[in-house]
Amino acid sequence: MTATHCPYCALQCAMTLGPADAEARRVRAPVAVTGREFPTNRGGLCQKGWTSAQVLGATDRLTTPLVRGADGELHPATWDDALDLVAGRLTEIQERHGRDAVAVFGGGGLTNEKAYALGKFARVVLRTPFIDYNGRFCMASAAAAANRSLGVDRGLPFPLADLGGAQAVLLLGSNLAETMPPSTQHLAGARAAGGLVVVDPRHSPTAALADDGAGLHLQAVPGTDLAVLLALLHVVWAEGLVDADYLAARTTGADDVRRSVAAWWPERAERVTGVPADDLRRAARVLAAAAPVNGGAGAVVLTGRGAEQSTQGTATVTAAINLALSLGLPGRPSSGYGAITGQGNGQGGREHGQKADQLPGYRKIDDPAARAHVAAVWGVDPDDLPGPGVAAVELVRRCGTPGGPRALLVHGCNLVVSAPDNQAVRERLQALDLLVVCDFLPSETALLADVVLPVTQWAEEEGTMTSLEGRVIRRRRALAPPPGVRSELDVLHDLAARLGVTSGFPTDPAEVFDELARASSGGIADYGGLSHARLDAAEAAGQALHWPVPAARDGAEHPGTPRLFADGFPRPDGRALMVPVDHRGPSDRLHPDQPLYLVTGRVLQHYQSGAQTRRVPALAAAQPEPYVELHPLLADRLGIADGEPVEVTSARGTAVAVAHVTPGARPDTVFMPFHWSGEGSANRLTTDATDPISGMPEFKVAAVRVRAHVPE
Ligand code: SF4
Repeated sequence: MTATHCPYCALQCAMTLGPADAEARRVRAPVAVTGREFPTNRGGLCQKGWTSAQVLGATDRLTTPLVRGADGELHPATWDDALDLVAGRLTEIQERHGRDAVAVFGGGGLTNEKAYALGKFARVVLRTPFIDYNGRFCMASAAAAANRSLGVDRGLPFPLADLGGAQAVLLLGSNLAETMPPSTQHLAGARAAGGLVVVDPRHSPTAALADDGAGLHLQAVPGTDLAVLLALLHVVWAEGLVDADYLAARTTGADDVRRSVAAWWPERAERVTGVPADDLRRAARVLAAAAPVNGGAGAVVLTGRGAEQSTQGTATVTAAINLALSLGLPGRPSSGYGAITGQGNGQGGREHGQKADQLPGYRKIDDPAARAHVAAVWGVDPDDLPGPGVAAVELVRRCGTPGGPRALLVHGCNLVVSAPDNQAVRERLQALDLLVVCDFLPSETALLADVVLPVTQWAEEEGTMTSLEGRVIRRRRALAPPPGVRSELDVLHDLAARLGVTSGFPTDPAEVFDELARASSGGIADYGGLSHARLDAAEAAGQALHWPVPAARDGAEHPGTPRLFADGFPRPDGRALMVPVDHRGPSDRLHPDQPLYLVTGRVLQHYQSGAQTRRVPALAAAQPEPYVELHPLLADRLGIADGEPVEVTSARGTAVAVAHVTPGARPDTVFMPFHWSGEGSANRLTTDATDPISGMPEFKVAAVRVRAHVPE
């Protein structure tokens, strides 16, 4: 039996993998999955987790390298031939166009070890500044705002279980009940107290948890989460509900924020958000009453992608943090602000050097001291390390353009489905001289590649992941990979050697982790006191290790840091910074040709681009095809019946999907899940406009037209 964690989302539910039983064999799974007791999932798994072993047995699993031939088709190749080809083409492209002509795109599902090795490979072997990853589509706004205001970006700066003690939880733009169902058990306390406040344009399954006296659903106009927050801030300041002592002792900028929200009275916000002013007042009072300063048991403000994937995403999260600080929540029991990380290793994936502007340990790449520290660990001259690159959307936008990257290495990301305006992304990837994709399945992006390298997946490898609460956990190998498959660590080692770097890229994950720990030591995300052996021992003893975990001092191991901010904020003055922000609305505006809002999101059965979950028969059967949710009034006005195909058109393109008529949608808004490719792909419609601070694209709001689809 192997104790490990689910391969999908950041909840990282614990599971045990055992020998395949009759049921596993029936569904072609090589191992049997059972839920395991763990603080985030308490033994529970969602349907994706229960069926996750079936991806290991996928019938179209990649088991041999593929190289595109002169006939335009992908053909099997030996590893030596494929790696020789990649190394030769990279060298040729860099000699002809310069080092910056090669770029790397990583993923938030890679283990910490792979994410670290990939960042090092880009900076030390390729010596290119152009590396970024798909976490830029996921966590960038929350990370930027938290870094600026709190001095650190750890999705939840407290254990998830702390939610259980909260009397009120404000949840903005997150559909937890579908994306990570076991997590909703932690909302029971807030629901029992009538304190669950959900802000979402849809009456989602999560919004439904706030029905029947459990709280409030604020069904805001898409793209107006920031205005909702400004109104809540207005109320808590106007009604004297703030924690004045906390603000005076632990923050700077509170007066600026107070002045900035003075004009956001609820009636004004109602005109922007569509949320009744009385509901805004009620929500603010519910939250404030739960704050310790007002005698409550605790209150938590949480943001998800609905609030963050916006051109004003950093401002929105900043307002959420301002609200939490105004009520004196961060650092208090069962209280605080947190972002709900999406991807499995979305947290660790952004800590170890995959981001364009960061080195391991969250060190800034333009900080001379940070460069010197990491360069010393890597055994290179700091002056040889490249500077900052560009964020993911901009990186892809430049691919194949004059002066832009001519070659791209993609690890763990299905860009042509998951990126915004994905038909334009496909064109950019096709314009490259060389596209190399490491994957374990023939994803839509892999099928575009010049070279495909087949790699191991979760239950076939050792490593670590970092969950949404900053807990570093072990991923363990339960079975051998199919013959012909290698780990990305092997791929990077072999490519580095072919490119002239014959040391520094070990293939043993424990050895890579030890180096990662040294590179991160002393940084914000400090793993200096961790090793695979310590993580194993801690798990056996029932202990959790949340970073920062500095290196042992005087022989005493650091116990980890489950809760941040109890004694201050890791900013130069030890205080949180409150930054005034204002609402300006999304980049797409409604107009007569595109008079409806489109919002995108996930469904229970599928994960991200769907490359894995669409291959699991039970999940595909439950959610077989792309669909569009419409309100009955809208469907009636457009003459569309439930189950009919409809066309959705934005300024970027048109998608065709099946109409689901449901009163849960706003009459001015349609919803599409983004898990499918082809003509039903929601990201054909989304804009690549980005947040100016975080680089986060605006996935959550597009102006669209909807009409019945008439096949040609
Ligand atoms: Fe848990 Fe997320 Fe896996 Fe579902 S997908 S079992 S919620 S980790």
